[in-house]
Amino acid sequence: MPAPTPEEWPTLLSRFELICKTYLQQLPHKNVATEKPFYPTTALPIEGAGLNILMDTLNNDVLPQSSASRGPRYWGFVTGGATPVATFADWLVSLLDQNVSKDGDSIASTMERQTIQWLTALFDLPSYFTGLFTSGATASNFLAAVTARQFSGLQQGINVAKDGMANLDVAIFSACPHASMTKTLGLAGFGQHNLIKVNCLAGSEQMNPEHLKQLLQQTPAPGKIVISSAATVTGTSFDDLQAITKLCKQHNAWLHVDAAFGIFERLLNPHQSQSQGLEHADSITLDGHKWLNVPYDSGVFLTRHQNLLHDACHVAAPYLQTDNDIPDFMSLGIENSRRFRALPAWASILAYGKAGIRHWVSQNCCQAKQLATYLEHSDSWKLVHPCGLNVVLFRPQPSGQGYDDALTKATLRTINRRGKVFFSPGMWQGEGIIRAAFSNWSTTTEDVALAITELEACISW
Ligand SMILES: *Cc1c(COP(=O)(O)O)cnc(C)c1O
Repeated sequence: MPAPTPEEWPTLLSRFELICKTYLQQLPHKNVATEKPFYPTTALPIEGAGLNILMDTLNNDVLPQSSASRGPRYWGFVTGGATPVATFADWLVSLLDQNVSKDGDSIASTMERQTIQWLTALFDLPSYFTGLFTSGATASNFLAAVTARQFSGLQQGINVAKDGMANLDVAIFSACPHASMTKTLGLAGFGQHNLIKVNCLAGSEQMNPEHLKQLLQQTPAPGKIVISSAATVTGTSFDDLQAITKLCKQHNAWLHVDAAFGIFERLLNPHQSQSQGLEHADSITLDGHKWLNVPYDSGVFLTRHQNLLHDACHVAAPYLQTDNDIPDFMSLGIENSRRFRALPAWASILAYGKAGIRHWVSQNCCQAKQLATYLEHSDSWKLVHPCGLNVVLFRPQPSGQGYDDALTKATLRTINRRGKVFFSPGMWQGEGIIRAAFSNWSTTTEDVALAITELEACISW
């Protein structure tokens, strides 16, 4: 069988169209997850199998065993879908295959800067924030760690990017950092354990600013970095950024805010957002592939100190020189070669506008409340925390008994195996729970009703 030839482009395209149409039609009825995928062991192909075999394998083995994570009832983690516009734009990214490393050969860098500007305007942030697209919030948190590291170095007369951090004296404070933030503290050489834990307020994941105040006063290290959340993934708690900003200013501390999905709350409450004070942050992380509903991989890093980000990420090389005054993206991020990640976000903002994005964000919050209301009034389930945004935390409540972790785990497994709706596990105040996060543009109230029917069917106690 001959390998695909250039003449087969039209065939590929028409097959692609058919695959897409069929997949999208079947998506609402597809199993939400494939627990134990089957992959036939095959030897390395020496001669290419050709298009027909490729298409058969994709259709028979790959597509049916994917998760329905872009669909309306995948509520694990914080999983965005991909709108039709964003999906289309993402296909174009592959078609164009631009390398958005530097200016000089394409409109792509200009469009990435435009998209960053639109995002700051979307979230009512001042225009002194600049930034770039990353592979996700984890990569953005990593850029925060290295930029803050560069800042602490500057305070101590050390250029960390050039001379390393052996002599750097820095303390990092956080109350409830996302696991990815802890990971990046390790990657950036601070060490995952070198985090000074700030207490949370009772019954919440919100940082206790009084405790932060004490810790900042007690800590002699000349470098200080505070990592805040807006919002946390379980309790959707927002740190009090107004109070924290004041403390950071007093102690010359860097303030990073991980706002991966919580930043979208600003669309709902423009004047009374729970993230008021975000404009004072030194750096901000947000995700595109969550509530913006663009495909993976899309994160954004924003900072008001582009010079420090540049110092941290730039390396000179003769073959990479440009005569541009604006820093090239490859000098502001991890990768040198970069995908045109901004295009799906750009297309979404252009096509749906602020109003369109706000619409699905607000719908998702209503759907979360709809589920929470059912759970709250049910004798069989316990809503463990009031639903404040788009995340619902619950567990089985067997009558007469207290908390039964094994039952919670088994129930979660049963629900997910039935294939109609997908939840993920979590921990709330030391107890294992089931967690539903709403962040998909295509979810409807009918989907919530269907999930409630599923929950009823799973009651075994
Ligand atoms: C999802 C999430 C992350 C990690 O994001 P990835 O896009 O998976 O890398 C970090 N912080 C918060 C608050 C998140 O919700």
